[in-house]
Amino acid sequence: MAWYPKARRMEVQPEGDAQPTIRPTQLIFHSIAAPWTGRRTYEYWRDSTNLESHFFVEFGGGVFQYIGTQTRADANMHANRRSDGTGAVSVETASNLKHTDAWTDAQISALIKLGVWMHQYHGVPLRICRSATDPGFGTHRMFSQWSAGGTACPGDARQRQFREVVFPGIVKAAGGKPPKPAPKYAPFPGAGWFKSSPRSPLITAMGKRLVAEDCSAYGEGPGPRWTDADRKSYAKWQRRRGFTGADADGWPGKATWDALKVPQV
Ligand SMILES: [Zn+2]
Repeated sequence: MAWYPKARRMEVQPEGDAQPTIRPTQLIFHSIAAPWTGRRTYEYWRDSTNLESHFFVEFGGGVFQYIGTQTRADANMHANRRSDGTGAVSVETASNLKHTDAWTDAQISALIKLGVWMHQYHGVPLRICRSATDPGFGTHRMFSQWSAGGTACPGDARQRQFREVVFPGIVKAAGGKPPKPAPKYAPFPGAGWFKSSPRSPLITAMGKRLVAEDCSAYGEGPGPRWTDADRKSYAKWQRRRGFTGADADGWPGKATWDALKVPQV
């Protein structure tokens, strides 16, 4: 069991003893959508839900740890533990109720130090995860496999801070080379994903691109939930790209997705 020396330890039980071990390969940042303290969050994990994160960072930068980093915590769906025994370590952070606020300077500094420790102690590589299973650093909203049907956590302000301040800060503090700029466009999430009625900021971003390309069949929106209006709009885009018949049925494929250049969310 590994405990971060700079964290206040408040172990959540019985999860701490009962849940399976993991070999941590990822660190995933979250916003909890509540202006809570570390103690209040501990009580919430203990009393009100089966979920829990490994860590919590208060507005003032105080770090709390509820589960050892080699034990599964349940905040990241399929990234909690994979069949090969690897899993993600999760960090919740205090935020406003809609998690639209930026991280405080104290939170940023604490997140960078924690990231460095995860790199040095557990060998998490100094890169942003390139897929849902790729070792590295990420945020909860980056991959739909990390949540039930997509999540907006953390909000746009913190997502920007993650890419521009927190992750580069971890690399710098760990003595690594500056990272290559993150890819500008979102990779194709797979054909099957769209058929699961996903709810994700990626759907909104896709919709905005379709509107910009004059391929809108939206009455309202676009919004985060995949709807028939998304499919009709996407079908227009497919026809624009020269597809016809069943190839222009509105279900996204890789070629048209890549051509659409949907920004990273
Ligand atoms: Zn989250």
